[in-house]
Amino acid sequence: MGTFELLQRQKAVEAINTLEEKYRNAKYYLNFDGALQLMVAAILSAQTKDTLVNEITPGLFHRYKNVDDFANAEPAELTEYIKRVSFAENKAKNIINCCRIINEKYNGKVPDKMDDLLSLPGIGRKTANTILINAFGIVEGIPVDTWVIRLSYRIGLSKSDKPDKIEEDLKAIVDKKYRKNIAYVLKEHGHLICHSSKPKCDSCPIKGICPKNGV
Ligand code: SF4
Repeated sequence: MGTFELLQRQKAVEAINTLEEKYRNAKYYLNFDGALQLMVAAILSAQTKDTLVNEITPGLFHRYKNVDDFANAEPAELTEYIKRVSFAENKAKNIINCCRIINEKYNGKVPDKMDDLLSLPGIGRKTANTILINAFGIVEGIPVDTWVIRLSYRIGLSKSDKPDKIEEDLKAIVDKKYRKNIAYVLKEHGHLICHSSKPKCDSCPIKGICPKNGV
């Protein structure tokens, strides 16, 4: 690693440490109780606001209480419960099929291995990482959502716009103890200060080290 890269890396690490300190209470934003509810909520949240998912899930989880309930759900009825989220019909199908596979292959329990989670319909790496971290306390990787993609580029943590590469870049600079919540820290910072069109750089705790990419 050359001097320039080393300096960039030091700045990135400093930026992460500063943000972790500022947003130390940042946590996952969907409401759930247990791995099944988290899996369902995470599937619903794709291209849908978290607040909307949190509005829908209490009624949904009252009607469908366990893996069997979802595995045996009528697609039309389940779709009705979740009709306010985007791609509701498709997400209903994925939830039903996930739960059927969980019953057939995993003894009715949401699996706690990355490869097993990735084999379920509607579950990509971001959701799998989210489930591993928040339901099982297993920190294998970092969930990369649209907030993480935008903030990572702006702060100079990654030059890529590809989630897998961003996750790799972040894993190289984010201390292990921060990996479980760095995604939520970045989201909080994007939400409160680093807005996409008008970031509040003057009041930003990392204004002295941020390259302000795209500002
Ligand atoms: S300095 Fe500006 S662009 Fe950089 S993280 Fe802070 S608010 Fe965002």
